[in-house]
Parts: sequence; C-alpha cells; structure tokens
Amino acid sequence: MIRAAVLGPSGRMGARVIELLAARSDMALAAAIDHPSSPLIGQKVAGGVEVTGDLAGLAGCDVYIDFTTPEGTAAAARAAAAAGHPVAAVVGTTGLGRDAEAALGQLARTAPVLVAANFSLGVNLLFVLAETAARALGATFDLEIVETHHRHKRDAPSGTALALARALASGRGVELEEVLTTERSGEVGARPDGEIGVVAVRGGDVIGDHTAFFLGEGERVELTHRAGSRDLFGAGALRAAAWLASRPPGRYTMRDVLGL
Ligand code: NAD
Repeated sequence: MIRAAVLGPSGRMGARVIELLAARSDMALAAAIDHPSSPLIGQKVAGGVEVTGDLAGLAGCDVYIDFTTPEGTAAAARAAAAAGHPVAAVVGTTGLGRDAEAALGQLARTAPVLVAANFSLGVNLLFVLAETAARALGATFDLEIVETHHRHKRDAPSGTALALARALASGRGVELEEVLTTERSGEVGARPDGEIGVVAVRGGDVIGDHTAFFLGEGERVELTHRAGSRDLFGAGALRAAAWLASRPPGRYTMRDVLGL
C-alpha cells in the first residue's frame, strides 16, 4: 500500500484529490498538509486523517501530491528532501518560479519528481498532436494559443498554455523563450515571422480550455481541449503518484506515465 500525502486539502484541487484517493485500493492517505492559515487545520478529512500545517508529516509518506502555490511547492520539496528516505513528488502547481524549481531539482537527486502543468490524458495527447502539426505545417503557418480559465486563477498564461507553446516550439525546432509573446497592445506592427502568441481569457467558472491555432494562407487548423471536470486532473495525478512511487530518483513527465 502506497502511503500518500495530499497538500492543500482545502483547495479546489486538493479536496478532489482527497476524495478520489479514498476510492483507490493501492494507496492510502497518510497525511493531509495545508498552509497554517487554512480553515481545515485540526479537522479530519476522508480516511480520518487530521489536517496539519506541519510539512514534517511528509516523512511518513512514500509520495505526495501538490496542488498549492509556488511557495508551498518550494517548502514541500525542501521538507521531502530532508525526510531521510525518498519521498516521491507529484507536482501540479503552476507558475513555479526559480525557488520552487531549484528545490524540486534538489529533491530529484534523491527521489522521483514529476511536475505536470496538466494531468489529463487529453491535454497530454494535445501536446503530442500540436508538436506534430507544428512540424508538419511548417513556418508559413502562424501559431497562436488561446486559453480560458475561471476568475480565481492566479497565474497567466496557464501552465498548460505554456507547455502547449513549448510543444509548438519543439515542433518548429526553436527555443520558446526566443519566440513567445504574451502581450500585444498599441502600435505593435505586423506580426513577426515565427512568433508564438499566447492569450489568456479569465472569467466565470471555466475549468480550463486550450486551443492551438495554426493560421495559414487560405486555411487554418484548430486543436482544442476542454476540461469538463477537475476530477480528470486529480485522477491523473493519482495515476502518476502510483506510477512514480517505485521509480528511481530523477525527473519524469506525464508522457512517461502515459507512454505517449
Ligand atoms: P486553490 O487556491 O483552490 O488551493 C490552493 C491550496 O493550497 C489551498 O488549500 C491553500 O491553503 C494551499 N496552500 C497555499 N499556500 C500553501 C503553502 N505555502 N503550503 C501548503 N499549502 C498551501 O487552488 P487550486 O485551484 O486547487 O489550484 C492549485 C494549483 O494547481 C494552481 O497552481 C493551479 O494552477 C494548479 N492546477 C494544476 C492542474 C494540473 O493538472 N496540473 C489542474 C488544476 C489546477
């Protein structure tokens, strides 16, 4: 039985992961850890586990699932690295900065680490299709991404949109940082060749829509994914956790888990 910790149990994603975990026979909830300010601290969640604000609880686990904030991700990775045994990390938090990336890089020396901007099978397939389309259609097609999310989302563009942009850049054989644009306002002039644009729409309760546009002369291709439930992210994260728990230390991706 895999002992799993869930971070951020009071969050939209953390709460779903706890529910979905309770239905699995290969994993048991061993710890539920939230920010000390969380209203759930001291309360019991599914499985009778009490929510704490103490990351030392990670030491009693084989794997943890993290849908929190970049600060939470950095702190958890450091606590896991100090556990004295490998604690695998499944990280879904997006908008990670240098501090969180460095902490995860350090953890990956002694434990398996998987960071995914999106855990759904469909979106990971979209990455593969988009990369293939960018390669096949070539430089005469302009590449744009439009993403739409609920009004509470903290980061923009979404981690999924940036991963999708990276797949497009990879299909083109270019570095994303050299061609990405997320801002267009005022007298921007004609569209530069090779640019990959990402536009973020925010509002309502949209869970997450992503479209990659391939805009050519006289024709266009659009590849779209729409998430209809947060459960597909939670279920994907648990699938990744079960797969990751017995792997050697290092970095992994959802493509490894899904065999894409
Ligand atoms: P949310 O605001 O509903 O929940 C965040 C949770 O993190 C809360 O429980 C909060 O108390 C907790 N938290 C905040 N700071 C913390 C800290 N320092 N230590 C521990 N816990 C802390 O957010 P959400 O909608 O659940 O999304 C969380 C993250 O997951 C976001 O970055 C979001 O973009 C990402 N996300 C990823 C996927 C995916 O498939 N990878 C899917 C959905 C959301």
